[in-house]
Amino acid sequence: MKKPIILLLALMTFKVSAVEMSKVKPVKNVIFMIADGTSLPALSVTRYVNWYNNPDQEKLALDEILCGTVRTNCINAPIGDSAPTGATYMTGHSAPAGYISTYSPDFGKDNFEKVDVTKTNGPAATIMEACKQVKGKSTGLVVTVNFNHATPSDCFSHYYNRNETAILASQIVNNNVDVVIASGNKYLTPELENYLEKRNYSVIRDDIQAMRSCTNNKMWALFRSKIFDYEIDCDKSKQPSLAEMTKLALDKLSQNKKGFFVMVEGSQIDFAAHNNDPAGIVSETLAFDKAVKVALDFAKKDKNTAVVILSDHGNSGITIGKYGLKGYSSIPMRKMFGPIADYKLSAEGMLKKLNSRPGSDAKRIFNKYANIDLSEQELEKLYRCKGYKNSIYPEKERNNKIDGALYTSSFSRCIASIMVDHCNLGFSTSGHSGEDVFLGCYNPNGAEQLPIGMNTNVEINQYLCALCGMYNKLDEFSDNIYAHSDKVFNDYKVTIDKTNKKFPVLNVENSENGKSFSIKAHTNVLYIKDGKNTIVDLPSVVIYVDKTDLFYVPKNITEYLK
Ligand SMILES: [Zn+2]
Repeated sequence: MKKPIILLLALMTFKVSAVEMSKVKPVKNVIFMIADGTSLPALSVTRYVNWYNNPDQEKLALDEILCGTVRTNCINAPIGDSAPTGATYMTGHSAPAGYISTYSPDFGKDNFEKVDVTKTNGPAATIMEACKQVKGKSTGLVVTVNFNHATPSDCFSHYYNRNETAILASQIVNNNVDVVIASGNKYLTPELENYLEKRNYSVIRDDIQAMRSCTNNKMWALFRSKIFDYEIDCDKSKQPSLAEMTKLALDKLSQNKKGFFVMVEGSQIDFAAHNNDPAGIVSETLAFDKAVKVALDFAKKDKNTAVVILSDHGNSGITIGKYGLKGYSSIPMRKMFGPIADYKLSAEGMLKKLNSRPGSDAKRIFNKYANIDLSEQELEKLYRCKGYKNSIYPEKERNNKIDGALYTSSFSRCIASIMVDHCNLGFSTSGHSGEDVFLGCYNPNGAEQLPIGMNTNVEINQYLCALCGMYNKLDEFSDNIYAHSDKVFNDYKVTIDKTNKKFPVLNVENSENGKSFSIKAHTNVLYIKDGKNTIVDLPSVVIYVDKTDLFYVPKNITEYLK
């Protein structure tokens, strides 16, 4: 009987379970990194391809800190969606697809966790909001998609619908995030830009040199309208790498003596996985790993920084090996991964190349950029694609419509499918998958502080809260900054101007002294009519939810009417 007891003791000593989160020591800085939609085999493929290309690099930067796995369910489904899975890491509460850091409805026996229906559809505060407001830490977002895409929105905004981009953008901007490096020029409206400039931010658009030379620690640097090009395809003189963006953000955020919390996302691994695009997956995962190296180098030098790295859900069912692969266990590495190493562009990059040259160039382009000698059949498949603008066939003779993936066209899918046929990877879906994802963690206070083993996504939030000295305190914080307006304004006269349906204006008056204030939904700027027209930036944003017709406001907001 001795052995099981020793094993049990070892587990009790090393596993930071939900029960022992209270023993996790707070650290000054947290670097939280999400490889969006990255299944574990995507990491394996990337490691192999990189090793094949660089014989002295057998391992990835992430490898040294891999310590467990994470379950990434929605509240009512084992397969996750970025909105609720990222939100669970941020808030400690899971929700259904589309929900951005918002309390869930009740799904009865399909619930993964208990639901408090008095909170349904209301905002759930995030650990990043708490770090900023309670701990005085700086915060940052570093992503390669629009800054109001699901994952970054999960950090600083709250809504039951991830597609409400204007609402999400307003909430992020009004949360005064110190450093944002992202895409999404089209979502930073003149009004939002004006908000930032009035608060002394440097707002930089599509200017890599200006970003590099910016000395302001409050910076928004945006590139492109909605998404970055994949690193394998991009013009490096115009678009920074995720590693450089991470380094720049760390340089600025670390100026705060109280510390920082930054979320870095390898956003587009997910897009490439949806498209079943091997070169896209490998190049974006490698780009993410280079950013991981930057984060780990910083943390090891700093000695008071924790790094938590994971994915938010699997995607594509990628496998090394596929149906019909004969003699699979005798295929050497060069044959297994050589073809992928030869891809110099992603399927998206190939698409741009094909559509910028005459159709007769197709064979040459595949040869040059993918080392693929297209068969007559493959060439025909390409030329018959609807999206191949320069095909040798006129549009009415182009009927090949392969179903497009979530973020890409059917032509891109067609190109990717040819590239997949020439390597030994299998894919089982163009959607998300529900297996556990990898977890990597670096904690300066030693191995006994690591969340080893299988963690639920709720437990990851508890760990992040513990690292920030907020263990078990996030719900209370949430109740304080997002209280039901009908409860807070019981004794006051409330009118709501719904001229702008998505951004109604809340007016509240104290009839005893005639004082009143107004605030537009999804902003933090309070206009007080007190004879002096005082304008106050609230620490948190005020949120309006149309479903419930409720505003959510700080509990103590009526202080401004006294
Ligand atoms: Zn995702």
